[in-house]
Amino acid sequence: MSFWDDLQKTLSEATDFTVQKTTELSDLAKLKYKIHTAEKKLERIYAELGKNYFDTRKNGADHESEFNTLVMQADKLICDIANMKAESSKLKKTSVCPECSAEISKECTFCPVCGEKLCEDDCDEIDD
Ligand SMILES: [Zn+2]
Repeated sequence: MSFWDDLQKTLSEATDFTVQKTTELSDLAKLKYKIHTAEKKLERIYAELGKNYFDTRKNGADHESEFNTLVMQADKLICDIANMKAESSKLKKTSVCPECSAEISKECTFCPVCGEKLCEDDCDEIDD
């Protein structure tokens, strides 16, 4: 093995690493954007629900069918956001607190936000 072969190998490994890192980052950036968009959408649905509720209480308007649609949309968004956050923490190599959904370091034994005891070695991995 010559010096040049070694150098060549090192350089190509370094390049591979950079490419992989960039892909991870852009996936993460895309995911962050999608989470942000979904959260904005959820806010709008909450606002719409509030407005309809106000109209119902104040003017006796019937928004029952809108309520159902909006609640279903909000429910789906909440689920999507949770999934995307889990995906994003996988990419970032962090984990999500099962209690309050806060993003935390994998090394934490307790959630720094809500104090929930987190998985230890003796705890069963649940794969879904
Ligand atoms: Zn927590």
